[in-house]
Amino acid sequence: MHELSVTQSILDMAVEEAKKAGASSVDKISIVLGELTGIAEDCVRFYFDIIKKDTLAENAQLSFSHVPAVLKCKKCGYEFERQTFSFTCPKCGSPGVLIDKGKELYIDHIEVSFDGNKVGKEHT
Ligand SMILES: [Zn+2]
Repeated sequence: MHELSVTQSILDMAVEEAKKAGASSVDKISIVLGELTGIAEDCVRFYFDIIKKDTLAENAQLSFSHVPAVLKCKKCGYEFERQTFSFTCPKCGSPGVLIDKGKELYIDHIEVSFDGNKVGKEHT
C-alpha cells in the first residue's frame, strides 16, 4: 500500500499548487521517479486513476522520468549504471557501491489550466 500514500501526496501537492495559482484544473503532472524508491509507475498510475476523481486533477495526465540507480567503483571511482544484477565495475572489475542516485521521487512540474488556457508551472 506504499504506492497509495505516495500517489496521494503527489495528487495533494499538485492540487494544492493549482489552487494556489488559482487554476481551474491540473492537466499534467510530471514526476521524477528513481529506481531505488521501489515505487512502480504502473501502481502509481493505477491509484491515481482512482483517487483523482472529483479533484482539480480529474483529467490530469501523469508523465514519468525514470532515474536509474548508479554505482560507484570503490577502487577506481568510476560511476556506472547497474547492468542487470551485476555490481561489477566495467573498467576494473572491482565491486561497486550504490550512491545517492535513483532515490528521487518528486514532482518536476505541473501544467494547469485557467478556464481553458494552458499554462506550465514549475514546482519549487
Ligand atoms: Zn573500477
